[in-house]
Amino acid sequence: MVERFETESRKLLGRLRDAMASDDAGQERLDKITHLIATSMGCEVCSIYLFRDEDTLELCATEGLNKASVHQTRMKLGEGLVGRVAKRKAVVNTPDAPQAPGFRFMPETGEEIYSSFLGVPIQRIGAALGVLVVQSRTAREYSADEVYALEVVAMVLAEMTELGAFVGDGAAMSARHSQPVLLRGTVGQEGVAEGHVWLHEPRVVVSNPIADDPETEAIRLESAVGLLRISVDQMLSMAGGDKDQQQVIEAYRMFANSKGWMRRMLESISSGLSAEAAVEKEQSTARARMGQVPDAYLRERLSDLDDLSNRLLRILTGQGSDTGAEMPKNPILVARNIGPAELLDYGRKLRGIVLEGGSVGSHAAIVARALAIPLLVHVGRITDDALNGDHIMLDGEQGIVHLRPDDSVASAFRDKIAMQAAAQERYASIRDEPAQAKCGSIVQLHMNAGLMADLPSLQSSGAEGVGLFRTELQFLVRNQMPKRTELAALYARVLDAAQGKRVVFRTLDIGSDKVLPYMKPNDEPNPALGWRAIRVGLDKPGIMRMQLQALIRAANGRPLTVMFPFVAQFEEYRDARAEMDKTMAREERLGHVLPSEIEVGAMLETPSLAFAPRKFFEEVEFLSVGGNDLKQFFFAADRENERVRRRYDTLNVSYLSFLEGIVERCRDTGTSLSFCGEDAGRPVEALCFAAIGFRILSMRPASIGPVKSLLRRCNLDDVRRVIHDARDRGEMSVRAAVMEYVRAQSAAQ
Ligand code: PEP
Ligand code: MG
Repeated sequence: MVERFETESRKLLGRLRDAMASDDAGQERLDKITHLIATSMGCEVCSIYLFRDEDTLELCATEGLNKASVHQTRMKLGEGLVGRVAKRKAVVNTPDAPQAPGFRFMPETGEEIYSSFLGVPIQRIGAALGVLVVQSRTAREYSADEVYALEVVAMVLAEMTELGAFVGDGAAMSARHSQPVLLRGTVGQEGVAEGHVWLHEPRVVVSNPIADDPETEAIRLESAVGLLRISVDQMLSMAGGDKDQQQVIEAYRMFANSKGWMRRMLESISSGLSAEAAVEKEQSTARARMGQVPDAYLRERLSDLDDLSNRLLRILTGQGSDTGAEMPKNPILVARNIGPAELLDYGRKLRGIVLEGGSVGSHAAIVARALAIPLLVHVGRITDDALNGDHIMLDGEQGIVHLRPDDSVASAFRDKIAMQAAAQERYASIRDEPAQAKCGSIVQLHMNAGLMADLPSLQSSGAEGVGLFRTELQFLVRNQMPKRTELAALYARVLDAAQGKRVVFRTLDIGSDKVLPYMKPNDEPNPALGWRAIRVGLDKPGIMRMQLQALIRAANGRPLTVMFPFVAQFEEYRDARAEMDKTMAREERLGHVLPSEIEVGAMLETPSLAFAPRKFFEEVEFLSVGGNDLKQFFFAADRENERVRRRYDTLNVSYLSFLEGIVERCRDTGTSLSFCGEDAGRPVEALCFAAIGFRILSMRPASIGPVKSLLRRCNLDDVRRVIHDARDRGEMSVRAAVMEYVRAQSAAQ
C-alpha cells in the first residue's frame, strides 16, 4: 500500500514537473496544476491561495470552485479555514468543514457543498507563501498518506513560487520576491541609505525539487550527510578545550546523527522529492515549530537544526556561502545577525545594514555606529523577503526598510536623502567655527570613538578631540586577548592620527552586554549591575596593568589622558589611580619614556558617585557623565530592554535636576566635567545640557554638525529660563517647552 502511494505521489510530481517545463504563462500553469492534483487525488476541488501581501491571501487558481472567484476571493491571515492554515503554518483536515472552527462562508466560490477539507501550508523554509487546499463532497477525513502527499506537492509549489513560475500575464499572481515590501525595525544607527541587497548568507536556490530516481537521490543525501558529519567532527576537534563551544557542536552532532531526521528525509525522497527538497521540507517544519515553541532552550536546538540543514543544502547544491555573486553597487547588507569582526571585514564598503535579529547594544551595532553606517535591527523577515541585488531603501530615522520600492516611494525617499545632503552641506560650512551660542558661551564638541576606522572623522567632523575612546572594542572584535605590543602600537596610531588633539582613553569596560568571546561568561542574574568595568579591572589587575602599560608606551613622551569606567565610589577611583601610579613607576624603572603630562579621570555612570565626598571631586582630574548607564540606573530602566528603554525622557525634570546637581558640585571644586553618553549627540538634549552648565559634550562624529548648528542659533540663558519655568509649572519633562523655544528661534532666522 505504502509503495503504491509512493508511486502515485511520484507520478503526480512527474506530471507537475512537465507542467512546469511547459511554455505556459503563469496562470495557465497554476490552472493545470490544480487540475492535476484534483484528478490524481480523486477530489472534486483543488485550490491554490497565495499571499498577495503580508496578511492577505488570494485565490489564484482552482479546479472545482467557481472560476470567476479566482483573483477575487481574498482573506486575511487567520480568517476562515484557509487563513487558519496560513497563520498557524499547520494542516487543517476535517470531514465537516462548515462545522469546523473558523469556517467562513464565501458564497462567490460556491464551496458550501463540499464537506471535507484538507489545507496544507505552502511554505519555503518556514516562510509562508500560501495555502494548498483539496475538498470533497463526501464527508471523510483524509488519510495520513494523503496529507503527506499534499504536503510534498505544497513543498514543490513553494519552490516553484520562489522560482517565479507563476509570474506572468496580468491576472496571475506575481512572485513574492518581485513585490514591494515595507518592513519595520528598530534604529541602531541613524541615517538614510539607498542601494542593493547583499545577503550575508545567500539563500540556497533549489532548482530541482522533483527527482525521477529516488535511489540516486537517497545516495546523494547519504553521502552529503556523511560529509556533514565529518565537518561537524572537525569543528569539534577545532573547538579545543572550549567547553561552551563543545556543547554547541555536540548538539549539532546529535542532529547530524539523528535517525529520525534521516528517515523523514528518505521518506520524502521516496515520494518523489529531490534530496535538496527533502532537506528543505524538514527545515520548513523545524522553522514552523521554532516560531511556536515557547521554551528558549528548545528554540535554540531547533535553530541548531536549521543551521545544520543549511550546511547540508550547501553541500548538496555546491553553493557555498561564497556563491561567486558579485557585490552590487552601493551594497546594503542583509543578515539574520552578524558578528563585529565580520562587519569590520566589510568595512566602509557598506551603505547600510539591516538585521533580522541583533540589538541596539550589540557589538555589531557598536561597530556600525563607529563606521557611521545606518543600521536597523529586529527587521521582521527581511532575510526571507530579500534577494541578492534587490533595490532597497533604508530609513534609519523612521526605522523603515523599503524593499523593491515602487516609483512614488523611491522618489519621496530620494527627496529625503537630498534634504539630508543639503543639511550636511550646511554643517560642513560651520565645521571650523566654534559651537558658540547667542549668549557668547562656547561649548566644546568632542567625538566618541573606538576603532582606528573612526579617526578620520576627527578632521572631517570638526571635533575638538576624542572625548571617549572605548578601548574594549579592540578586545571585542578579536578571537583572542590582544597582546600588549599590539595594543601599544594601536594606541600610538590613534595618537598619531589625533595630531595633538586630546584623546580620552577609557580603560576596558567589559562585562554587562560586552562579553569578550575568549573569556568565560559569568552567569550573573543582572549583568548590567554585575561584575563589570572597573570592578573587573581592580579584581583582576593583570589586564588593567597591561593596558595601562600599553597606553604609557604609546604616548611615548606625549600627553596621555586615561579614564576609568563605572566608578561607583571614591575608593575605586583611588585604587585605580594607585595602579596607574605604580605602573608609571615600573615603566620608568624599565627605561620607558613617560608621558609628558598625565590626566586621570573617571566616568560618572552610577548615581552614587554624584554623592561622593567632596574630596573625590577635588582629587579626580576630570569627570565624564556616561549618560547611557547613568540614565538606566537613575530610572531603573534597562537600556537594552526595548520595552522600557524609551519610557523615561532624558529631559525629565528629575533627571535634569540631578545632572544640574553634578554640574554644581564640579563647579564648586573646579573639576572639569563632560557628558559622553548617546544623549549628548541629540541636538535638543545637547542644548539642555549646555544650558544647565555642561561645557564639553562628546558624541558620535555625525552628531557634531547638527548639535553645533542648533547651539549657534540659541541663547543658553533663555533656554535655562525655559527649563526652570517648565519645572516650576510642574511639567514632567521640559521637552515640549524647549522644542517650542527652538521652533521660535528657527522661524526667526
Ligand atoms: C555611557 O554609559 O554613557 C557610556 C558612554 O558608556 P557605554 O555606552 O560604553 O557603556
Ligand atoms: Mg557606560
